[in-house]
Parts: sequence; structure tokens; C-alpha cells
Amino acid sequence: MAEPDHAFYLRAMGVQSWRLRRAPEPRLAPQPVLAQGLPPAAPAAAPAGAEAWEALQRRVAACQACELCATRTQTVFGVGDRRAEWLLIGEAPGQQEDLRGEPFVGPAGLLLTEMLRALGFAREQVYIANMLKCRPPGNRDPAAKEVLACQPFLLEQIALLRPKIILAVGRIAAQNLLNTQQPLAKLRGVRHQWRDIPLVAVPHPAYLLRSLTEKARAWEDLQFAWTVYSQLKE
Ligand code: SF4
Repeated sequence: MAEPDHAFYLRAMGVQSWRLRRAPEPRLAPQPVLAQGLPPAAPAAAPAGAEAWEALQRRVAACQACELCATRTQTVFGVGDRRAEWLLIGEAPGQQEDLRGEPFVGPAGLLLTEMLRALGFAREQVYIANMLKCRPPGNRDPAAKEVLACQPFLLEQIALLRPKIILAVGRIAAQNLLNTQQPLAKLRGVRHQWRDIPLVAVPHPAYLLRSLTEKARAWEDLQFAWTVYSQLKE
């Protein structure tokens, strides 16, 4: 993104200075086991992971487990680094995501990208997925049976990725992942657990685009997520 656009999104977030002092260290590729003087590693580990990802993506693309398959343009599997430590989970594809086959595109996606950049991440350094892989018509909330039908795919993505932290992006994602009906306002700013993985709830960028007063608070949410993540390394 050009610098003027970057500045625009920082201003749009209602934040004057929006950069952490220390960017996160990228996850390093594992050193060859042999170089550490240990017995040779199983040689197929990385390819098997890649094959598992590809097989899962193919299964998602062919899925007809709920009625959303009838109205989708295409499935929206997820994007990003498949070794990322940060996993962002949104609700479901919108119109533009359905057309492009990628989560969080359009103005809300640009804002999310800027939020990540402010944390020191390129969009490509995290993994971004939705609970649902197909667009609910008219961008309605996902039905419970649709969430249930699509859940195995998300569980497999999490199992393959093994993230260090999950960001639940938006109320719907947070409520479903935490199995609660509490409003997002009560879920923000708290370290939750999704199984053994810490989870932080943040507002959906589409909501932030509509709500001027919430933009600066969203920065506090991200700073909190960073604090949770940093504590994992201590
Ligand atoms: S939303 Fe999920 S379960 Fe429903 S058809 Fe799409 S991929 Fe299958």
C-alpha cells in the first residue's frame, strides 16, 4: 500500500501514532535436525503438511454440507502463512470475498491489513480464515446449523496451523468460538482460551469503518492481544 494510503488508515483508526516499538520476530523455519547433532528427522514432515493443507482445501472447495453451497460463487478457504503464529478468524465471506475467493478484502480488509501492519505484521505473515467458507446470502448472520456444518474445516485448519494465539474478529466469531452469547463489549480486553490456545476478541473492521468512536479502542484491543502474545514467550 502506498504511504499516503497507510497514513489515511492510521488516521481513519483515530490514532496519531500507531506502531509498536518492536516488530514481532518472524517464525523461523526449523533448523535441520541433523545440524543439531540429533538423529535425522522424518524427511516427509513438511510435504505431508503441505499435502494435508491442499487436501483440505480441495475438500472445502467441493463441500455441499450446507445450503450455502448453492449460492456461493466459490469457497473462501483462507490465506496467509501456514506456519503463522497468529490466526485471525472472522465470521464468513462477504460479497467481495465471495467474488475474489479471499477473506477480508475490500475496505474492511484494507483496514484489517493496516491494523496488522501497525502491530508489525505484513498480512502475509499471519493466517486469516473465516468460520464459514461460503457466503451467507445478503451477508446475513450465519445460521447455527451452517456454523456446525463448517466447523470441522476450521478445526482442521487450526490443527494444521497450531497457532500461538487466535484473534476472533467480530462478535459472531467471538461468540461462536467461545460458545457464549455475551456481547462483544464484554469479551474484549480479556484473555480467553480456545482449548489450549489463548484467544482475544477484537471488533470486526467493517464495524470500525462505521463507528468513529470505536476505532481508537480497537487499537487498545490489538495492544492487549500483543501483550498476551508477548507473555507467551516469557
Ligand atoms: S459453508 Fe462450509 S459446510 Fe457449508 S457448503 Fe460451504 S464449505 Fe460446506
